[in-house]
Amino acid sequence: MTSLAPDLAGSGTPPDGPAVPGGPADAAEPLESVETAELLGHAPRERRRPALSPSRANDFMQCPLLFRFRVIDKLPEPPSSAAARGTLVHSVLERLYDAPLGERTLAAAQAMLPGEWERLQEAEPRYAELFAGGAGADGGVQAWLDGAGNLLGTYFTLEDPNRLEPAEREMFVETQLEDGPLLRGIVDRLDVAPTGAVRVVDYKTGKSPRPQYQGSALFQMRFYGLVLWRERGEIPKMLQLVYLGDGQVLRAEPQEADLLAVEEQVRTLWSTITQAARTGQWTPRRTPLCGWCAHQAVCPQFGGTPPEIPEGAVELALGIAPEAVAS
Ligand code: SF4
Repeated sequence: MTSLAPDLAGSGTPPDGPAVPGGPADAAEPLESVETAELLGHAPRERRRPALSPSRANDFMQCPLLFRFRVIDKLPEPPSSAAARGTLVHSVLERLYDAPLGERTLAAAQAMLPGEWERLQEAEPRYAELFAGGAGADGGVQAWLDGAGNLLGTYFTLEDPNRLEPAEREMFVETQLEDGPLLRGIVDRLDVAPTGAVRVVDYKTGKSPRPQYQGSALFQMRFYGLVLWRERGEIPKMLQLVYLGDGQVLRAEPQEADLLAVEEQVRTLWSTITQAARTGQWTPRRTPLCGWCAHQAVCPQFGGTPPEIPEGAVELALGIAPEAVAS
């Protein structure tokens, strides 16, 4: 069952919206949660085996060429103030739970913002570019931090962190599908009730998606449900996306059939990715989401020419050897 409704105390005052109001679920989120977790020191930094995350799976479903640019070419994308704010708010919400019960207040969370922002800039110097040379994005760093503070304010209208003791935070998860890809992701928070029931919680700093974009949000949730089921042998009771941009909560109680369906979807997707990797056919798919793509200059749909794929990059990224092209 899936519901989209204000949680507990209601929606509160909407803070600044995301870059894409009501758009794709993760438009204002960090580009890659695994890489974000690495920045924050949560995920292993050793060279990883090729794997599929829900973000990159969504990339391929949106546009195979976008997937290629991000996963294989690893083309740089300019830092986004919305994504950086997402990383910052995630970091504060993760560290907030280090404080003892009773001390997890909104004031304490907001007071963490400047220090966490310093830490993130040290880990990822690109973030410093956002405000270099003056006001920069969003009218200056203080206004931007205030926006992050508003998102935390919305969080406190939805949950009381003094009544929660997460079992896990920023949990790195992966599972190898038999005859399929390695699946990987980062779960923001895992709650375990005294009954043993598991709730998976993911924070989003954008607004909740319009109905036409809810599919990718549900896919991400079920992807995590599948990975946890395969790893722990138990289906999570609840999958929950918390949208701090508008105080909405998207919930799903996954059933075995839902997770089997998403497993089948992932297998089919991986088969299509494998085919593209072998043949080199990364077909661009033009949609309204192209408006937020950083790679229009090298996209044939916009008059550009993709760069040559670096030697060995496909194998390195996906573990698949491209077929030799007859000359
Ligand atoms: S501009 Fe659109 S079609 Fe081109 S790579 Fe980006 S998402 Fe794909």
